Amino acid sequence: MKFVFRILPPKEGLTELSWWFVIQEERVLIQQKSNSTTIPLLRTISELGLSILRQHYLGRLEECDCFTVEVPQGCDPPHGMRFEGLREVYSLMGEEYFSLAGGALQIIDWDRTNQFCGRCGSKTRTLETERAKQCLQCGLLHFPRLAPAIIVLVSRGREALLARRRIETPMYGAIAGFVEPGETLEQAVEREVREETGVRIRDIQYFASQPWPFPHSLMIGFTANYAGGEITLNDGENVDVRWFTADNLPQLPGKLSIARKLIDSFLEKQANS
Ligand SMILES: [Zn+2]
Repeated sequence: MKFVFRILPPKEGLTELSWWFVIQEERVLIQQKSNSTTIPLLRTISELGLSILRQHYLGRLEECDCFTVEVPQGCDPPHGMRFEGLREVYSLMGEEYFSLAGGALQIIDWDRTNQFCGRCGSKTRTLETERAKQCLQCGLLHFPRLAPAIIVLVSRGREALLARRRIETPMYGAIAGFVEPGETLEQAVEREVREETGVRIRDIQYFASQPWPFPHSLMIGFTANYAGGEITLNDGENVDVRWFTADNLPQLPGKLSIARKLIDSFLEKQANS
C-alpha cells in the first residue's frame, strides 16, 4: 500500500470516497464486514451521524484521501462498527493500517493539547504550510510531539544480548532507550548499551525504523557487535540481561514490535550460516 503524507487536501479536489480514521480517546473506529475488518470508506463523514470535535487531512492512501476526526467520549459507534485500540488494529488489519491509525491518533492528540501556547498561554492557530500550530500572540510554533528512541540488537557470535525489563513479565527484548538532546543516534546506542548492560559495542549499523504511537515515539533500530566488557545491571532499568542463542530463547516480544523484527532477522542469519 502506498501512502503519501500531506497537510492539506489536494487543490484539484478530493477523491469520491475517503478513508476516515475516527478517533475516540485512544481508540479508532473500525468497520466489521462479512469476513474482514476495515477503516470506514465514505463519501462524507456526515454519513456516520457522529458529532465531530476536530478534523485533519492526513494524505492519500492508494487512490483515496484520508482524514482523521475526533468524536466525543462516550458516543456510541454506528451500527456494524466499533472502537478498538491500536494493538487490535494491528492484529485485525496489519502494520500499515496500524501506522496510519497511530499517526491519526497522534495528530488528533497534538491538535487537542496545543489549543493554547505553552509559553504565553494565548490561543494558537493551525498553519497550512506545515503540521504546526502557531501562537497568535508570541509566534511560537507547536509541532506534534515525536520522541526518537533507539533500539539495538547486540550480538556476540551466535549469541544475542537480550534484556528483561520487568519482574512481572517473563519477556526479553532488545536494548532500548530515548535519545537525549544533543546526542546522535549512534551515541545514544552506545550509551544505552553501556548504561543498561555494562557491555561495549562496535559496528553500529542501521536496521529499520518504526513509528511507535504509545504515545509518540519513533523507534530507530540498529544492530551492533560485542566489543568487550561483562554484563552488569547498574542503572536499574532491567531486572535481567543475558546472552541467548537460537536454541535457548526466552519469551520474545510480539511480532508487531521492531524488537521482534531485529531478533527474527538475527535468528534468520543464524539459520542460514
Ligand atoms: Zn505564545
